[in-house]
Amino acid sequence: MDIWSVCEPAPDRQGPNEDLVISGPDFVVVLDGATAPKGVESGCVHSVAWLVARLGTHLALPLLGRSQVPLPDLLAAAITEVRAEHEDTCDLANPDSPSSTVAMMRVSDEQVEHLVLADSPIVLRAPDRRVTVLADNRVDFLPEYTFEAVRRLRNQPGGFWVASTEPKAAYEAVSGTTERAAVELVALLTDGASRYSERYGHTWDDLVDTLATAGPQALIDLVRQHDEDAAVGAFRGKRRDDATAVLCRLRLPS
Ligand SMILES: [Zn+2]
Repeated sequence: MDIWSVCEPAPDRQGPNEDLVISGPDFVVVLDGATAPKGVESGCVHSVAWLVARLGTHLALPLLGRSQVPLPDLLAAAITEVRAEHEDTCDLANPDSPSSTVAMMRVSDEQVEHLVLADSPIVLRAPDRRVTVLADNRVDFLPEYTFEAVRRLRNQPGGFWVASTEPKAAYEAVSGTTERAAVELVALLTDGASRYSERYGHTWDDLVDTLATAGPQALIDLVRQHDEDAAVGAFRGKRRDDATAVLCRLRLPS
């Protein structure tokens, strides 16, 4: 498959980009680390960028080894591996331990597998241009958004799930398969890019069209312009964010 990707830090970011893209011959993984609010004691001596890099490593190794293990099992195993890397130094029971969203896709001759955990959606476009959005929107339906409430609802039933210290979160992801012949394009996005549709109201067809015709940088540039134009406080969440957009064009099976 052909893969076209941009992973760009927020214009006002200090410190490393907390988004990450990893791709191989038949897979793409997109991660978006959750930036910790200032002054929060996470119980972890590591950074969010560390968590994202370690998760990415433990997902990439089996994927590059052509593992046939289902994506939720791969993610659960990766979370377990990362846990083991810092259980001796960090308090992994702390609910503010670093965390990440996960969007993964893997292609075989027969099917396209997907996994989406938290707000990094995947969009499929069929050869007939029909668009399917694969999203985990639970974080949009929390009863309240105070710091305490979000902390209480993270990785809890009735709340929302992220990749952090809890392997069972992998089984809360939106996952499944689509017949390969029904997929021509796959877009993977972090919320810094998917907000083109989710926050700024463009259709998903428009988003995929922009990616396919103008490319990921053009999509992110359009989002940045919206971010600049938006009234302060008009939307929940960060005004500017790290942004990742990946477009995969599947070739006909050989
Ligand atoms: Zn740690």
